[in-house]
Amino acid sequence: MMNSFASACGAHYVRVSHERFRGKTSGVTLMSDIPHYIDGKREPGASGRSGAVFNPASGEEIRRVAFAGEAEVDRAAAAAAAAFPSWAAAPPLSRARVLFRFRELLERESEALARLITEEHGKVLSDAKGEVTRGLEVVEFACGIPHLLKGEFTETVGRGIDSWSLRQPLGVVAGITPFNFPAMVPMWMFPVALACGNSFILKPSERDPSPGLLIAELLSEAGLPPGVFNVVNGDKEAVEALLAHPSIAALSFVGSTAIAEHIYASAAARGKRVQALGGAKNHMVVLPDADLDQATDALMGAAYGSAGERCMAVSVAVAVGGVGDRLLEKLVPKVRALKIGPGTDPEAEMGPLVTRAHYERVRSYVDLGVEEGAKLLVDGRGLKLQGYENGFFFGGTVFDHVKPSMRLYKEEIFGPVLAVVRSPDFETAVRLVNEHEYGNGVAVFTRDGDAAREFASRIKIGMVGINVPIPVPMAFHSFGGWKRSLFGDMAVHGPEGVRFYTRLKTVTARWPAGVRTGAEYVMPTMR
Ligand code: NAD
Repeated sequence: MMNSFASACGAHYVRVSHERFRGKTSGVTLMSDIPHYIDGKREPGASGRSGAVFNPASGEEIRRVAFAGEAEVDRAAAAAAAAFPSWAAAPPLSRARVLFRFRELLERESEALARLITEEHGKVLSDAKGEVTRGLEVVEFACGIPHLLKGEFTETVGRGIDSWSLRQPLGVVAGITPFNFPAMVPMWMFPVALACGNSFILKPSERDPSPGLLIAELLSEAGLPPGVFNVVNGDKEAVEALLAHPSIAALSFVGSTAIAEHIYASAAARGKRVQALGGAKNHMVVLPDADLDQATDALMGAAYGSAGERCMAVSVAVAVGGVGDRLLEKLVPKVRALKIGPGTDPEAEMGPLVTRAHYERVRSYVDLGVEEGAKLLVDGRGLKLQGYENGFFFGGTVFDHVKPSMRLYKEEIFGPVLAVVRSPDFETAVRLVNEHEYGNGVAVFTRDGDAAREFASRIKIGMVGINVPIPVPMAFHSFGGWKRSLFGDMAVHGPEGVRFYTRLKTVTARWPAGVRTGAEYVMPTMR
């Protein structure tokens, strides 16, 4: 039995997709099955394998998603390879115009997309809408591709010789994405990849795959030629087929560190370009002079927003120089008062975790923290919501006196669990952050400009916030961590995204009427 929210949301998507794509669908109903999207069409897939998709608020299986094997990946790669030459040959302005239309469609369907995210991921609807907006901003960035691909030109590098550099697309590229941002993370990748002239295969998370399919249909409606954007759904098997496929030139991956490292190593060993973004343990360092009301509010949003299932979530608060007691005095009552409910409840500040298995994993970390001797101040285990008894709801949790040697501190939990570490001084806090194996995001809260400047300069982390708890770079900058949070050299979207999805070519040209020098047997130099 589906609860009223799930049916309302599912029904909405069916209405949207059927009205919008009447006559174009293969007849597969999204309510029961999520197919692949290959060569401009939905494809149910032939592997016979599928997986369950749950509504995390009710705990019920709401639909199944087809799992691709080698055959589906092969077909998607063939469609993408066939579509590539003419898409790559289209003027960047024409490609941008498709993206402009896609941007309008995204805005029109943003509510439907956000509802799908909430339905399958669980995050609150306002947060899902924020996710859609952050993805849309990458599309807006990619619409500027004629400017971004202009290249460089030098007249007269030698007598009568000119030289210019240009960037050309790679070919077929693939994106493998995690569950926690089922619309935004794919949009970190494909708008830039398509704008640069590549064709694209998306392998969304099998836990919340519907947004990927809606996006594919909106791209088609925007006028993207068939085969330029494809979706293969599935699990490890689909990923392995993408890694092994000889037609795929590059892979972008976002997910957990162990898988990111595996993707990086196997793709690179096969000669593919690869960027693989992994997990995180983001610290927020609170200096004694910080505005503690501001710091507390920032911690609440950053630790418990999206139930802590954000790669930029703050999971460690470092209380410096005795500020810990004052900070916790403000924080603990707020954590106890967190409004937890289904994502569709406009009052809810935090929704459920994504799956039962993830719920059990988060709970096991809280058990472990207690065993390791950290002081549990707020315990989110055992939370039950009336009417949602089977939902995957976990309450906000706070541990104090967490030590760097504990697994609770070292490992990514990816839930609403905040670890407070006491640090005697600034130096110890900087060392703590720098010695952690992850390096995605960090924040410092202080009113001291010198301390903030020194922190930003010395900290070994990719994205730094000064009185900003979640410093996610805007679309026209690039997103990427350091250390074991990013394998590969290039971050996603922004200028780094354009570099990742293109290859540099430099042309040096002399015309016959120019200076004639005869045969030259020495290294050419400027004369
Ligand atoms: P995950 O690693 O389980 O899955 C990511 C993708 O890899 C999915 O598409 C999944 O189907 C595939 N996959 C899973 N197991 C695989 C295997 N054994 N072999 C090949 N492919 C496999 O990650 P998740 O649970 O979906 O997402 C949460 C993780 O993603 C967290 O660790 C989070 O920090 C990370 N994340 C990182 C960033 C970042 O920017 N660094 C952003 C978002 C999420």
